[in-house]
Amino acid sequence: MEATATFLVGSAVLIMAVAAAATLWQLVSGLPVGRMRSDWYVLLAFIACFILGYLYYLVGSQERYESTPDLIAPAMFFMGAAFVALVARIMLRTTRDLLRVSSLEAESATDPLTGLKNRRAFDQCWKVELARAKRFAIPLSLLVIDIDHFKDVNDSYGHAVGDQVLIKVGQLICSCLRVSDVAARYGGEEFAVIAPHTAPNMAALLAERLRAAVQRDACHALGQHASERNITVSVGVAGANDLGLSGERMFECADEALYEAKHAGRNRVSIAASASAAPPAEFGMMLAKAAF
Ligand code: GH3
Ligand code: MG
Ligand code: MG
Repeated sequence: MEATATFLVGSAVLIMAVAAAATLWQLVSGLPVGRMRSDWYVLLAFIACFILGYLYYLVGSQERYESTPDLIAPAMFFMGAAFVALVARIMLRTTRDLLRVSSLEAESATDPLTGLKNRRAFDQCWKVELARAKRFAIPLSLLVIDIDHFKDVNDSYGHAVGDQVLIKVGQLICSCLRVSDVAARYGGEEFAVIAPHTAPNMAALLAERLRAAVQRDACHALGQHASERNITVSVGVAGANDLGLSGERMFECADEALYEAKHAGRNRVSIAASASAAPPAEFGMMLAKAAF
């Protein structure tokens, strides 16, 4: 009788421990590779050791069970294994919920077409960077970039090609930036860049590099029509050199500069008047060299 009970309790312990290990395995396989995954592997190794140790214990203690009180130890093992299995199940559910929330968070901050930050995420970064610039008295610049005659691109080749152009321009913008810069698709065919630690005269150089990269490469997004037309952007640059500008005013300044660039013929960079420092000499040379 006791032998049968021992066998039953022993099997239940093993089933629980294997169930806990299986649940943890599911959890680990859903996690990104890294520190967290290795910590869970350690826990899995402990459970594997427990299963092996318990099997050894079970085989060695068969003859020692003579009365019901002898079942107390296996029953406690069962409780322990059931506890671990339950905790593993709760952890699996919690981890899946957290992963879902973090992927939703990332989605809500990303423009689905270009993969850049969307306007909401950009505005949050803008507040943080502006506050940091003011707090530590470091320069900060803002670039507003608008694709020239984009409506014509859509009208001539269709929205699908227009979308490819947006993706390409987004990639080209990113390829010109430092890791600390923040780029976003700010509206339909408008992009914006925050350049922290960058005075407006240096941001103008960045804007010029970016303009030239788009002029050179963005037309490839037109596919078979690549040779038919250029894709260009106009860029407005504003900076907080004196740090007296509010966030809204800087946006207005950058927009005004963009409007000037459009008005002056497009495919060019314009610096807001409030960006006090004059552009460096090499910027003038670059502008002179650029084939507008
Ligand atoms: P400008 O040089 O003055 O900026 O002229 P524009 O034609 O670029 O500007 P306009 O504001 O007249 O047109 C913007 C166009 O951008 C119109 C709109 O259909 C297009 N657009 C906005 N969002 C998207 C999008 O997600 N995909 C595509 N394909 N087109 C878009
Ligand atoms: Mg526009
Ligand atoms: Mg436009």
